[in-house]
Amino acid sequence: MAIREILEFPDPRLREVGEPVTVFDDSLRQLVEDMAETMYDAPGVGLAAPQIGVSKRIFVIDIAGEDEPSDLMVFINPEILSLDGTQQWEEGCLSFPGATETVKRAEHVRVRAQDAHGKAFELEADGLLAVAIQHENDHLNGVLFFDHLPPDRRGAFLEENRKELADMQRQAKAFLRDLRTRAPADARAGGERAGKPPGTRPNGTRTRR
Ligand SMILES: [Zn+2]
Repeated sequence: MAIREILEFPDPRLREVGEPVTVFDDSLRQLVEDMAETMYDAPGVGLAAPQIGVSKRIFVIDIAGEDEPSDLMVFINPEILSLDGTQQWEEGCLSFPGATETVKRAEHVRVRAQDAHGKAFELEADGLLAVAIQHENDHLNGVLFFDHLPPDRRGAFLEENRKELADMQRQAKAFLRDLRTRAPADARAGGERAGKPPGTRPNGTRTRR
């Protein structure tokens, strides 16, 4: 068992279409175990293989609440047989940390898939499980949850999250700059001047080497 790295948008691998699984062996079951462990660690209610850089038609889901026993569901080579009704949920994605959006999905879904031993099954789902199945199945086709937003909202969503990312990068750069200018001076001053911004030192120019 191993926790795998979860790819984050805009990693291009998230846009790939997954290949069908043809061999149901121990290495497949190991992969499924890793996916489950990675999902529980995140934590999330679903994870698709492309999210860990494996371009295959596999996803795992567990929508059990915190006080309920875990209920791992494994879907290999899933096929959506029917979609009915509509429902809206505030969705997030492990490949897009921190961002959520209200997405319209089908309320009922009927799906056929295989388990980790290749055994076929059919399942009818509604509510959160139906949402999770549709969200994860999308990942196998390179589709991400915000692709379902109307064009104007999708633009605003990406713009907003780009800004947040840019802010984080700016803050990280400022922090590193501050560390670089502050560290040598503080070492010389024995730390007594810690807390003052570097720019306020009379000899500030000399500390910037
Ligand atoms: Zn997702």
